[in-house]
Amino acid sequence: MISTDAVIDIHRRIRAARLSRCGGDEWVQPPANWAKIIRESWPLVWSQEPSRCPDGWVDLLMAFSEHAVELGGGGLYHDAFENVITGKLVIQRFYDDDRNGRLFETAHGYQTASVAICRVCGEAGDLRRIDHRPTRALCDDHFQGV
Ligand SMILES: [Zn+2]
Repeated sequence: MISTDAVIDIHRRIRAARLSRCGGDEWVQPPANWAKIIRESWPLVWSQEPSRCPDGWVDLLMAFSEHAVELGGGGLYHDAFENVITGKLVIQRFYDDDRNGRLFETAHGYQTASVAICRVCGEAGDLRRIDHRPTRALCDDHFQGV
């Protein structure tokens, strides 16, 4: 079970990643090849480009990558994508092991944090659902546009 302090730390790291990338509160669309950039920036964390992750979670993914390095997570992750049913981020690795339980808990913390971040623009969001469409993490603006 992840502690409240750890959850606060994860949200702080995501905000810091966004500020360092965007330089302010306005959303800056990441370059089209951002998954390649993440793979090349954190080669010990990502064995492949996490290219299926929605753009709005790119700052979350950068914060996670840096955090994983700090926790000694090397070469475990190969994909990050949106769960089509729950709308939550899945950060996937090739195999499960318990050699780094703290990294496993931390990854879970980032996945949980994704539901409060718009999948489109990275602004504060919430899980939303209209009619029978799948649940998605969206801000007020992008929820209106659904
Ligand atoms: Zn949005």
